Amino acid sequence: MLIKRKKQSSGLLFFFGAILFFLTLLLPAFRTFPVEKVFEDQAFAESTIQIISNLPFQERRKLLYSHYPSLHENLLLMALADKKLTRTEIKLMRLTSDNYPTFEITKEQAEWLLRIQSIPDMTIFFQESIPLECITEISIAEDMFMNHEIKVFQESEKSIPILMYHQIHETNFWITPTTFRKHLEEMYRSGFCLISLSDFFKGDFSSIPDGRKPILITFDDAFESQFTMTKDGKPADNCAVGIMEAFSREHPDFNCTAAFFPYLSIIPFGQVNQEELWLKKFKYLWDRGYDIGCHSYYHTFFEKISEKAIKEELDFFYNHLSYYFPDDYQKSFFIAYPYGSLPKNKQYIKYYEYKGNQMVGGFSAWGGLSPQIHHGDRFYIPRIQADADTLNEIDTWVSYTVESKTFILPKFYENRPQLVNLWVRKNNPESIGRYFYQYKVFD
Ligand SMILES: [Zn+2]
Repeated sequence: MLIKRKKQSSGLLFFFGAILFFLTLLLPAFRTFPVEKVFEDQAFAESTIQIISNLPFQERRKLLYSHYPSLHENLLLMALADKKLTRTEIKLMRLTSDNYPTFEITKEQAEWLLRIQSIPDMTIFFQESIPLECITEISIAEDMFMNHEIKVFQESEKSIPILMYHQIHETNFWITPTTFRKHLEEMYRSGFCLISLSDFFKGDFSSIPDGRKPILITFDDAFESQFTMTKDGKPADNCAVGIMEAFSREHPDFNCTAAFFPYLSIIPFGQVNQEELWLKKFKYLWDRGYDIGCHSYYHTFFEKISEKAIKEELDFFYNHLSYYFPDDYQKSFFIAYPYGSLPKNKQYIKYYEYKGNQMVGGFSAWGGLSPQIHHGDRFYIPRIQADADTLNEIDTWVSYTVESKTFILPKFYENRPQLVNLWVRKNNPESIGRYFYQYKVFD
């Protein structure tokens, strides 16, 4: 029930007294809708109110919605029919009539506005000039009006390097732990800072300090050398995760994050006789803000198999992952194509769906520096293969240098670029067109 009911009191005098009282109180609301149409015939109004007040609440609301679609009329009739309206309800009626005077409010929007009364500071909402069409997208939460820092970033057309690593091993033909550490040192020296894959997709650069440039590290195939776990549940010093964490402890402004792309027909990060550790490792990574994506189930050439077989590969992967991680697997809907091999029909990954989840994007295994912040194809994002020679290239990579402005806004603005842009237009016009907030990496 949306409006708090109060016990109906009887007595005709009180009834008409209440009507007069509210007519006076609600004067501003009256001006905003054709009150004469509803109340031109006083006898009709009274008999309507009488009929309405005798109906069960749900029926009453249905009737009101069908006859008088605007929130103000609903509230007014409800108020009159109830003879008693709370202070918040009166306030709500005034605020809605001031803010949305000419709109026909839909049922959903009316319900949203009625529900917002449950928040103690709800009047703040009406100072924010939120367009009516946006309101149902905002979830109503106790903390929605808490102050919150929102960063906006300077507009840029530059690329972001995305590195692809495999083994980090002394005896391996990929790269040694020493070389990997040198890569990190060189990235830091060249002004880079690690960004997470989730933030990259959102275009949220708030984790990157001003003056630094985002760079993204990815690891394919989930080799043990990427993440070896010691007996006390920590990453070993010489595995990739251990090296990154040690480096970021010394250089906190470098961040510590990466994306891992395991395939699941083998034990990911498999340690001999301690296979079950992969479960702990996945949890460890997710808990610390690393990302884990999909690299198919059997590590298959997608361009050589049918769409049905690709679907099976992906379904296997997500069945497996959701079985072990029912609460986390939904964070894993992005893919690195095994061998960089795309399905013949490039659109396939875009439309693949698993229990209502769709892929956010897909990574190639080559292609160099990329993507453009705008106009990129999010299902074919190039990566740079990291090897020993990479060390000499790092300082030549162009990347966007983060420059931000911070605004203090109510928390409900978070992750709502349209609202933030509206706010900027109104409150900080010199930022329009020069700064952006999220979701601009891919149009
Ligand atoms: Zn692979």
